Amino acid sequence: MPLPTILVTHSDFALHPTPRGHPESPERITATLPRLRSSLPETIRWVDPRMGTSDLLRSVHTEAHIRRVEDASRNGLVLLDEGDTYAGPRSFGTALLAAGAATTAIDLVASGEATNAFALVRPPGHHARPNAPMGFCLFNTVAVAARYAQRKHGCRRILILDWDLHHGNGTQEIFEEDASVLFISLHEHPLYPGTGRASERGKGEGEGFTLNLPMKPGSGDAEYRIAFEEKVLPAADAFRPDFVLVSAGFDAHRDDPLGNLMLSEEGFAEMTRRVRGVAERHCRGRLVSVLEGGYDIDALGRSVHAHLCALETT
Ligand SMILES: [Zn+2]
Repeated sequence: MPLPTILVTHSDFALHPTPRGHPESPERITATLPRLRSSLPETIRWVDPRMGTSDLLRSVHTEAHIRRVEDASRNGLVLLDEGDTYAGPRSFGTALLAAGAATTAIDLVASGEATNAFALVRPPGHHARPNAPMGFCLFNTVAVAARYAQRKHGCRRILILDWDLHHGNGTQEIFEEDASVLFISLHEHPLYPGTGRASERGKGEGEGFTLNLPMKPGSGDAEYRIAFEEKVLPAADAFRPDFVLVSAGFDAHRDDPLGNLMLSEEGFAEMTRRVRGVAERHCRGRLVSVLEGGYDIDALGRSVHAHLCALETT
């Protein structure tokens, strides 16, 4: 019998507050979890995350950054950057729980209790830089997960595939000089945060281990299929990862209010099956996916459902 697919999540991910009308809202959790409870196959196992620690965050963030978010979380709602990134009461704890969820997922997969796992968390993480929160993101959860897989489980080569609408600038910055992490990002371009040109390929020893695939506004399932066949899969297979991580944002969905990409739920399911194939070819299927964006509540629920069903190997 195949090992299960695990969903690591908790209603406490709704505790990170954002101002009324902010797209990155607690409703992303409060609306999505009940929907998944009533619609997911029973074969998908739900697991509570353990709490994360500041030590986990220190693997990719400076002490000053961690303190700043922790201090901001003692007060009312505080704007942390020039844009739209807020922290308030419970934000630090919620972000720690996100790191805990991702590492819980890594442990379950690395120990052979699950084939793969999805950590459904907020806040998102892939814009968070080593020394600064950014773009709704407080800490870079997927980067924390990558370092954890390397240090705790001895994985050498980590693939991070980021299909969020936006370029994962924070993840790129953290690993751009590191040949042990292949970062592949498909994102709408031009769009926030403005980085992610094809010419950004990593630096120093990490040159060639960053692959940016900017997608034109209006791109959808067909354009992504071509990008996977021509770029993503050849690069991922040549890298031969020991563990696969996915920065799974669902804001490239055609119904999402923040972008102009046209992916469908089936498009996300197809990308999921393809990256699952990479993990199956190189690392016994070991894959952990972490939620990033996705701001149309209905489309988010449908897309997460499709993603989880496509992760199952039955
Ligand atoms: Zn996004």
